[in-house]
Amino acid sequence: MSLSLSVVIPVYNEVENIDVLVRRVVEACTPLPNKWEVVLVDDGSRDGSLDKLEAATALHDGYVRAIILNRNYGQHAAIMCGFRHARGDMVITLDADLQNPPEEIPRLVEAIEKGNDVVGTIRMNRQDLFFRRFASARINWMVKTSTGVGMSDYGCMLRAYRRSVVDAMLQCRERSTFIPILANSFAKRAVEIEVKHAERAAGESKYSLWKLVNLQFDLLTSMTTTPLRLLSWFGVAIAVGGVGFGFLLLVGRVLFGADWAAEGVFTLFAILFIFIGAQFVGMGLLGEYLGRVYHDVRGRPRYFIDRTVGHSALDGAEAKETAKAAALERQVQI
Ligand code: UDP
Ligand code: MG
Repeated sequence: MSLSLSVVIPVYNEVENIDVLVRRVVEACTPLPNKWEVVLVDDGSRDGSLDKLEAATALHDGYVRAIILNRNYGQHAAIMCGFRHARGDMVITLDADLQNPPEEIPRLVEAIEKGNDVVGTIRMNRQDLFFRRFASARINWMVKTSTGVGMSDYGCMLRAYRRSVVDAMLQCRERSTFIPILANSFAKRAVEIEVKHAERAAGESKYSLWKLVNLQFDLLTSMTTTPLRLLSWFGVAIAVGGVGFGFLLLVGRVLFGADWAAEGVFTLFAILFIFIGAQFVGMGLLGEYLGRVYHDVRGRPRYFIDRTVGHSALDGAEAKETAKAAALERQVQI
């Protein structure tokens, strides 16, 4: 039996695109042997997208559903909502602005069916403006250097996730999520395929500079607390510099007399540097605690069981115990 498929699409003020989008997605999914559904999540649109969504669900009853959020929560929150309501064994996300051609869906399905948990995409012939390309390049570089998770393109939301990865993501309680990276942290087998990329069909990018900056921080903080540790290293560097400077002054004074280095004024600088350094080390230390609190607050599952193999005579009792323990754990977490 082939795996069932949910296509999750966040929609925010995309009134001109919805009709074509739904038609192309339906056309791409219909020939598939898999069972499929489309879950459109309206992220608080105010431009008549809602009417279009309702019309689309009526037209493709039994295949297309819409979930309407009461206001704008952001693309990633909308996708998370889509994940929660998707029923498929695999979930494919894509943008509503037709930058990700729905015709690529069968290739993503195929890649998941080959046994991959996550399928990322690399955009051939990118059609974004220079500013966006520059921003994405920065994002990719930051992720790679700070997290070591190596994918070459995180910017494209045309991606596929196996059910187990989606469930793992749904168990994460952090608010600031960057889905492609979160998914990677739960994937055993991930692959990247090349996909076409088009210009936005209609309307404008929904990301202002401010939202983009926010996204960069979400992305960074969702994976690492290293920046907090950098404070300590910075402090140590300043303090060591201060000590070195003091030593230099001492040597200079012995060799050239008290006139050298403005009669001790510079010595004050050396001492100051040492204290500034110590302050930063202190801040870094606070950062270390904060980082740990942050990790705990997110309450990510420590591990996620893919499946268990084999059973024993004690199994029945053990399974019951495990279920009880899991229920208890959930209660404690909430
Ligand atoms: N989007 C959303 N909520 C937002 C911003 C964007 O649901 O607050 C959706 C938008 O409708 C589109 C996708 O996220 O389907 C990507 O947005 P956009 O094309 O504006 O981003 P860009 O391609 O410029 O990165
Ligand atoms: Mg776009």
